[in-house]
Amino acid sequence: MSTVYNWQIGREMTYPHAERHPQWQFAFVFNPNRCIGCQTCTMACKSTWTFSKGQELMWWNNVETKPYGGYPQHWDAKLLNMLEEVNPGGQVWNAAAPEPHKQPYGVFEGMTIFEAADRKPASDGPRRALGYLPTDDEWRSPNIHEDTATGGRQNAEGQFGDAVELPEHKVWFFHLARICNHCTYPGCLASCPRNAIYKRPEDGIVLIDQSRCRGYRYCVEGCPYKKAMYRPTTRTSEKCIACYPRIEGKDPELGPDGVPSETRCMSACVGKIRLQGLVKIDEATGGWAVDAQNPLYFLIRERQVALPLYPQFGTEPNGFYIPPRWVPRDYLLQMFGPGVEHAIEQYSCPDRELMAVLQLFRASRQILFSYKIEQGEKVAEVEVTMPNGESRTQEIFNDTVLGYNKLGEEVVRITVEEPTFERPKEVHVNSI
Ligand code: SF4
Ligand code: SF4
Repeated sequence: MSTVYNWQIGREMTYPHAERHPQWQFAFVFNPNRCIGCQTCTMACKSTWTFSKGQELMWWNNVETKPYGGYPQHWDAKLLNMLEEVNPGGQVWNAAAPEPHKQPYGVFEGMTIFEAADRKPASDGPRRALGYLPTDDEWRSPNIHEDTATGGRQNAEGQFGDAVELPEHKVWFFHLARICNHCTYPGCLASCPRNAIYKRPEDGIVLIDQSRCRGYRYCVEGCPYKKAMYRPTTRTSEKCIACYPRIEGKDPELGPDGVPSETRCMSACVGKIRLQGLVKIDEATGGWAVDAQNPLYFLIRERQVALPLYPQFGTEPNGFYIPPRWVPRDYLLQMFGPGVEHAIEQYSCPDRELMAVLQLFRASRQILFSYKIEQGEKVAEVEVTMPNGESRTQEIFNDTVLGYNKLGEEVVRITVEEPTFERPKEVHVNSI
């Protein structure tokens, strides 16, 4: 076991392999506030990578309805319960952060899946990460409980009344889109006895070497997000490959040679909830290099408006979420950690710069490495009720945000206010 630093839990932790970092890291922000659960992303992935025999139950991208849905069923609740069982009452955060940049969400004082592994060995021997193997039934219904809400009841008139008022709805659900998080300390990689799983040094993408894999399924057990999956026809495990030919810039239709493009699931997103990128890793520290003009760095590290999914598992996932602002906070806290209030506060009333950067979601198929803002005129002033009940005046400016690809070329130019076009008065004959 080695000791590695995990910035998301704000402390060192044990990990089965020595600390090593890529030059760039594949990362993404999803905004569940905007997800409509249309599954276009799911089908874009399915029709590209998992349409063959033996992959029928395999959905590298899935969108589940929380709190009841899950693929596989109950994946998160099961692991949270296992961790609580081995460390009763101890899975807690100390949100006071002595070094805000090193410990942006405070310090997680409980046990990660790597630290808890010894406490609960599997029936056939020890493991390097605490986990479990889902049953076939649990994989079978990727969209179970779709759009099923939880919470209060309708009143006598059949109305929900105040059940759907902010800051927290009493009747609620939300869509959680998920892919492999290409974790910094992957549970799948740690668990593989064949060293068949590796993290690419150029972009941090986590892949399974099919020629080394023997299908033991330890990775399926050890991935806390259940994003490593077994394929019975080849007797190997498979997982999301982050559409790596696109990240390498190999698709001539998407841009100049070598210019990275977003994955299939990202580019297909109808709700414009997704922004994918590559963040530079600081060679000296192994952490994220300060790069405030990179939209992902700005949203995740600078503004902390997007948070990691279950950071307490300890894998340092590179997928981040803007918490859905109507959902009860205790549910969000266990899912995204102590940064939730701060993130929702900012998202509820974004300032000028945040408002501009939020326009970049799904604005280009090429990955944006930096942005610039050109200031425009003030177009509105609105009263916003903040989550704590205070009223705030939000000024909205029609700024233009520009996005640049890896070569520094401008590939996006978009305004905060959506342009409208008035059709001329003359009659237009329908051509159909
Ligand atoms: S999400 Fe799971 S499969 Fe993906 S890198 Fe992390 S541990 Fe491995
Ligand atoms: S395509 Fe986008 S909006 Fe539709 S389900 Fe996927 S993430 Fe949500």
